Amino acid sequence: MSILSSFAEALVAGRIEVVDLTAPLSSETPVIQLPEQFAQTAPFELEEVSRYDDRGPAWYWNNFRTGEHTGTHFDAPNHWVTGRDGDDVASVPVQRMIAPAAVLDFSVQVAENPDFLLEVQHIREWEVEHGPLPEGGWLLYRTGWDARSASQQDFINADDTGPHTPGVSPECARWLGEEPSLIGMGVETVGTDAGAAHSFDPPFPCHAALMGSGKYGLTQLQNLAQLPPTGALIVAAPLPIVSGSGSPSRVLALVDRG
Ligand code: MN
Repeated sequence: MSILSSFAEALVAGRIEVVDLTAPLSSETPVIQLPEQFAQTAPFELEEVSRYDDRGPAWYWNNFRTGEHTGTHFDAPNHWVTGRDGDDVASVPVQRMIAPAAVLDFSVQVAENPDFLLEVQHIREWEVEHGPLPEGGWLLYRTGWDARSASQQDFINADDTGPHTPGVSPECARWLGEEPSLIGMGVETVGTDAGAAHSFDPPFPCHAALMGSGKYGLTQLQNLAQLPPTGALIVAAPLPIVSGSGSPSRVLALVDRG
């Protein structure tokens, strides 16, 4: 039997489970809030065209407006100045939209400290237990932050000093950019960088390193708790927005339950 036939059989029989890592997309979906001197991205909005009425008696449909970086979405290399000559979201090779994932769980640490930062040492320790990061794969960074995604306020978690959400240290961000096995990093928060990363050196080091090395970001993921540390296969397919910097994406994980 061919690999794909066995795969299809396992999928139909439920021995391969499909886990949805995507947050629902609505006007309630949290969006990033930048310091006020910068332009802001748009939340998701639906505009009804017709709904079985005079405007269209037999059909219902909507227009929508949204930022490219709203909800569960994909960051393309050209999103950041360090990757300005890199791929736009329409040029991301489709071969890379299906890739293995390592899932690193720091939800316990983040419950104690919302400003928790991932360090290279944490990844090294994970590798001692689980083996090397998968070739051509994603590092998915679980923080438990998906539990907050129903509320803009809880998700952004800002006070007078700015947002407090977990992320990656500048040193670890550089390492992620240079690590040849990775195609990108996925997170549960509003962006791949920590809430406090506006004041890091460099600012937003994860964006700078990932985009600058032609890698990708995936944000606002959910249900990472349902994934094993190794062995999941991720389908992350952004819309091919020509010249776009990112796109809301349906992100799925295939998990072997056989
Ligand atoms: Mn983004």
